[in-house]
Amino acid sequence: MTAENPPVIEIRDLHKSYGQLEVLKGVDLVAEKGHVVSLIGSSGSGKSTLLRCCNLLEESQQGEIKFEGEAVRWRGEGHNRHPADRAQVTRMRTNLSMVFQQFNLWAHMTILQNVMEAPVTVLKRDPKEVEEKARHYLAKVGIADKADAWPAMLSGGQQQRAAIARALCMEPRALLFDEPTSALDPELEQEVVKVIKALADEGRTMILVTHDMKLAADVSDHVIFLHKGKIEEEGPPARLFGNPQTDRLRGFLSATA
Ligand code: ADP
Ligand code: MG
Repeated sequence: MTAENPPVIEIRDLHKSYGQLEVLKGVDLVAEKGHVVSLIGSSGSGKSTLLRCCNLLEESQQGEIKFEGEAVRWRGEGHNRHPADRAQVTRMRTNLSMVFQQFNLWAHMTILQNVMEAPVTVLKRDPKEVEEKARHYLAKVGIADKADAWPAMLSGGQQQRAAIARALCMEPRALLFDEPTSALDPELEQEVVKVIKALADEGRTMILVTHDMKLAADVSDHVIFLHKGKIEEEGPPARLFGNPQTDRLRGFLSATA
């Protein structure tokens, strides 16, 4: 990590509450360029909240968030703290594309239109060029033939691959995945897992919330085990999965095995 090559995302001592409920209690997360960081932990441990704080979809009350070395500028403090610079927020959001458990495709648009929408309307890119890219990414995730289909005509696995193509078409600096395979039947899970592995292999920066320990073990450079809003244990996947140090992680892994 040098000044010329800062982490894509760097979070220090992040605190987040919903009203009185403190759900992140001083969390650090660093995603170096080209690395995959996985977040694991029980339901309610704060994984989605942390992921959503990364791209400022959620506000936080304390701690620092940096994107490619650039610190988010805040005004106010505590529950009155908000990002100070809308342009900076937009820049971060458009550079950190998110893939959700429930795909969130627009039902009234074709698959191609879904993939093209944000680059054209948010980034104001030339529609002809965007269409070319969109078709390229649809081919990459293996659904080039579905460009003109409606989302409802696709299987869950195909819809999630369309959502990944949509995220890729923004040409983001990092991809944020929130349980991308959790809504899928087991036989459809693998087609999405295959795409995520291919993205990891080509050196994409990713933060992956997943319940799939095998996937986390396969693709991660670093794994963070969250428990009740705190990092209970973190490290390289071989150590976390092969030689967990805490009773909590051992318990969690044996319950998910
Ligand atoms: P995970 O993704 O690990 O299951 P979440 O980040 O979704 O956990 O949730 C962490 C905690 O925050 C949970 O106790 C959850 O009920 C609470 N929470 C999440 N979103 C909200 C919200 N919008 N308002 C209030 N509480 C929330
Ligand atoms: Mg969640």
